[in-house]
Parts: sequence; C-alpha cells; structure tokens
Amino acid sequence: MEKLLISACLLGVSCRYDGISKPVSVTQKLFEKYELIPVCAEIFGGLPTPRVPAEICGEKVITSDGRDVTAEYLKGAEEVWRLGKLFGAKKALLKERSPSCGNGIIHNGKFDGGLVPGFGKTAALLLENGFEVFGESQIEELLK
Ligand code: SF4
Repeated sequence: MEKLLISACLLGVSCRYDGISKPVSVTQKLFEKYELIPVCAEIFGGLPTPRVPAEICGEKVITSDGRDVTAEYLKGAEEVWRLGKLFGAKKALLKERSPSCGNGIIHNGKFDGGLVPGFGKTAALLLENGFEVFGESQIEELLK
C-alpha cells in the first residue's frame, strides 16, 4: 500500500499551536488507499502545545511575541523528511497555511490574518526532495 505522510492535526490530534486539531472528514477513505504516517513538525522540532503562534518572515520563523524559532521549525522539517524517507513515502498531505505545513499559500508574517504566496518549512523541504505535497483542499486528488 502506498505511504502518505499526513499532518497529525488533520487526523484529529490536538497538536496545533492553539491546542486544537483540524480533522478532515474523509479519513476512512484515506486509510483505505494509503498507509498513513502522522507527523507534526512543530512537535518534532521540540515546541510545546499549546505554543505562541509563529509565521514565516523572510527566511525566518518568528513568534507573535518576537522570538526566533527558525531552528525548531527547521529541525521539525528534517525529522518529517527523515521519517518520510524511512517509510518510503513519496507524498504528503499537509495542513494548509501553516508555517510548517503550508504549501503555496502561507500567512504573511504580520499576524493580521493576511496570506501571501509561500511555503512552510516542512512543505518546502519535502518539495525540494521530490515529494508531492497536497493540502487538505486537494484531498480528492489523493483519492482518485
Ligand atoms: Fe498541524 Fe503541521 Fe502545525 Fe503540526 S506543524 S499542528 S501537523 S499544521
């Protein structure tokens, strides 16, 4: 069965910065087609839950109270990539707009809800290494 890395918060794990999850409704269909590998880069990077929200600012990741957490985000991305390689995954379903998992659109770094083109640290690392990355609005493509 094909392997699929998946943001743990999309499976109902309460690992988001605000201590909640964002479960998707088609979990059973995903289980039927893929061997799911749940990951959370921000937890893997050593951050607590709940945690102060962070956004991408240029090359860095900065919390809303001004702390540079780039190292934690990069470590988490490396760990997700490492697990993906270990399990032989080639695809990932990642939570949209996250500074780790966002794929193509992310928050603008001003903590005002604005969005800009860009990639979370984990999505970027996976894409650089040949993974196909999907957001939750693209789940139907994974279920074809
Ligand atoms: Fe979800 Fe990814 Fe954020 Fe973890 S790092 S809470 S998996 S969006």
